[in-house]
Amino acid sequence: MARIVVKFGGTSMANIERIRNSARHVKREIEAGNEVAVVVSAMSGKTNELVGWVNEASPLHDAREYDAIVASGEQVTAGLMAIVLSEMGIQSRSYSGWQVPIYTDDSHGAARITDIDPTELNERMSNGWVPVITGFQGISTKNNRVTTLGRGGSDTSAVAVAAAVGADRCDIYTDVDGVYTTDPRIVPKAQRMTKISFEEMLEMASLGAKVLMIRSVEMAMAHKVRLTVRSSFDDPDAPQIAPDGTPGVPGTLVCDEEEIMEKQIVSGVTLAKAEAKITLRAVKDSPGVAAAIFGTLADKGIIVDMIVQNISDDGATTDITFTVPDSEYDKAVKALENNGGRFEYARLSGSKGGAKVSVVGVGMRSHAGVASSMFKALADKGINIQLITTSEIKTSVLIDEEYAELAVRALHTYYGLDKKDA
Ligand code: ADP
Ligand code: ASP
Ligand code: MG
Repeated sequence: MARIVVKFGGTSMANIERIRNSARHVKREIEAGNEVAVVVSAMSGKTNELVGWVNEASPLHDAREYDAIVASGEQVTAGLMAIVLSEMGIQSRSYSGWQVPIYTDDSHGAARITDIDPTELNERMSNGWVPVITGFQGISTKNNRVTTLGRGGSDTSAVAVAAAVGADRCDIYTDVDGVYTTDPRIVPKAQRMTKISFEEMLEMASLGAKVLMIRSVEMAMAHKVRLTVRSSFDDPDAPQIAPDGTPGVPGTLVCDEEEIMEKQIVSGVTLAKAEAKITLRAVKDSPGVAAAIFGTLADKGIIVDMIVQNISDDGATTDITFTVPDSEYDKAVKALENNGGRFEYARLSGSKGGAKVSVVGVGMRSHAGVASSMFKALADKGINIQLITTSEIKTSVLIDEEYAELAVRALHTYYGLDKKDA
């Protein structure tokens, strides 16, 4: 017997038929003698619709009301899942985050889970019940209000619940049958990985592979949660076979690097679009200036991604370039222009519509030349690189959005990641 937390994403909860199919996966686990808790997303498209209504009502809305509204999508699906499971003869009830309770801080719209009281869930599960919990939300201990965890947050809810109830596994059911070498919707030749290390998954998630929310991977890594990504579209009654052909969980296992025998230099390619670039020319080259610039942006809650500062030529001034999401571009420019004398510059220029393409792999730690080979592969396709950043296991470039898919496909082929028979 195992204790399992399963999470169903938006497409797996899209309508009653899909919910029924997802419930059959739960039924299979229960019939195999396991204890199961379910975490659900809202129906696909629902959260976008709710966010749209909030912004239509007022672009300058109260973030606490945003959360109250946007959290409602998951209440619907949690209730429906509990009804469908009950109809299948499985004892089940729904829980909103606050009923568990899942405690968070009060960063509305991007709250962090601080604690989960597992008492009620443990009791239900050990009595053969299946608790169905709304993903994406909790309750703030600071102001006693409903909070949401940021887009894609149900993954994080699932991993947090798994850690809290001491689950043996956390299975993330989605619309693809695992984690691929790149987004399979962009590159049909992408291959499913049987295993991926937490470190690589973390990089891929933060660089644009939205299959898992970054925070969920961080949490799984910290709490040693056994995490798999699999498809809810598989036949729920088919034998459960792991990628190595033995009985087990199908899909991709996210695990410690030590569990992976074959280490690739490049394991995956990711793409993040809608990255805006801003350059400040002739910024004073003295201590505290970068702190003032990025402090100004941080005060407005603007998240800056790539940052490049050149060595000063004349010892007096330098140029700084960085990226922010397209959606934050106008806000960022305004904040920089009206900085209240915190810093000076000669000129500001910038543009929206960049794309960040990255290659990720733990093998980069011990192999030289990945960056140069990446630049060559892009040059061969005539793609111009605007910005470059690297870390221990990734290299990222900013390019024109127009060439984004071409770049991803070219790099995928260049690093030998294409499926052999495709
Ligand atoms: P859910 O609603 O189930 O949480 P998401 O849409 O959030 O699903 O995440 C699944 C999607 O992530 C897939 O449909 C796929 O297009 C996308 N994706 C991006 N990069 C990858 C990748 N490397 N491997 C698998 N899926 C990826
Ligand atoms: N429904 C939320 C979203 O669309 C959370 C999730 O699906 O993970 O962002
Ligand atoms: Mg998701």
